Amino acid sequence: MTALVLIETEGGQLRQAARSAVTAARSFGDVDALVIGEGAEAASHLEGVRKVLHVTNLNHALAEPVAALLAQLASQYSHILAAASATGKNILPRLAGLLDVQPISDVIAIRDDATFVRPIYAGNALATVQSRDAIRILTVRGSSFDPAKDGNTAAPIETITAPDDSKNVRFIRVELSQSDRPELEAARIVISGGKGLKDAANFDRLLAPIADKLGAAIGASRAAVDAGFAPNEMQVGQTGKVVAPDLYIAAGLSGAIQHLAGMKDSRVIVAINLDPEAPIFKVADYGIIGDLFEVLPALEKAL
Ligand SMILES: Cc1cc2nc3c(=O)[nH]c(=O)nc-3n(C[C@H](O)[C@H](O)[C@H](O)COP(=O)(O)OP(=O)(O)OC[C@H]3O[C@@H](n4cnc5c(N)ncnc54)[C@H](O)[C@@H]3O)c2cc1C
Repeated sequence: MTALVLIETEGGQLRQAARSAVTAARSFGDVDALVIGEGAEAASHLEGVRKVLHVTNLNHALAEPVAALLAQLASQYSHILAAASATGKNILPRLAGLLDVQPISDVIAIRDDATFVRPIYAGNALATVQSRDAIRILTVRGSSFDPAKDGNTAAPIETITAPDDSKNVRFIRVELSQSDRPELEAARIVISGGKGLKDAANFDRLLAPIADKLGAAIGASRAAVDAGFAPNEMQVGQTGKVVAPDLYIAAGLSGAIQHLAGMKDSRVIVAINLDPEAPIFKVADYGIIGDLFEVLPALEKAL
């Protein structure tokens, strides 16, 4: 059996979630890696990668041409995987549509070649699903698989060309938020704020200095994002990012199930909330019942 992994890159660097997808793919046997634009060299060093397919006529992973290319390659593979990121979720369902197979999203464990575990109902239940399709299309959760490391040998790189499927779509520009902080989904420490922070200025004033001292990424609840306190890409939860850091600090957020769906697998959870009945305390390892406007500055000072 051979799996193909769509490797996500950013500025030629492999994204952590792509490394995790390679680890997941190794459960099936040989692994080939598909790289769009920059990053083929880096992918060739990934442990467990047999061959890199390097697409040179595309610089961006637009869903239409990439799905068309994957559909062309599909007959050579038993499984096609990508990270359960915005890119993976954009491309693989389209591929599954082209192949007329059932995509299996957000896989957190692989039981065997055809049997996979995935969360349902905002993570309140785990479904074990079995696929009878000849080819299995999976998006996998980065936080559930260790990232593949770099090995010593470099796998061969084969150049391929994506079909010209640019009739209905063209790349215009990408706007990336610049940050020196670690990537939210890969960070070892995350500090998140909720509606209790009251405004965007408090996110900067109270969370940023602690994040900088801890080398942490900053997250937010959906209520905080909807209120404009923090940008969309910071949202943690069912409709945001799923994180499982070593330490998750939740300040002024209630811990609604949709938020918990994105962070409850964190190793140690610290909650700061005025309300002792807030649901976040049910999953917290350490709870501070108090006013975040006093607790956060005190925490920063102590650090
Ligand atoms: C389909 C669907 C998908 C959703 N997806 C997501 C998602 O991905 N992520 C997500 O987060 N939510 C999601 N939600 C929304 C979710 O249900 C909650 O509304 C949201 O998480 C609440 O955000 P919050 O905890 O910041 O706000 P609130 O629930 O308003 O909580 C604010 C908390 O701050 C505390 N507080 C206030 N002032 C202070 C203070 N001075 N010091 C300390 N504590 C204080 C309060 O006691 C309260 O517990 C989704 C909802 C739906 C229906």
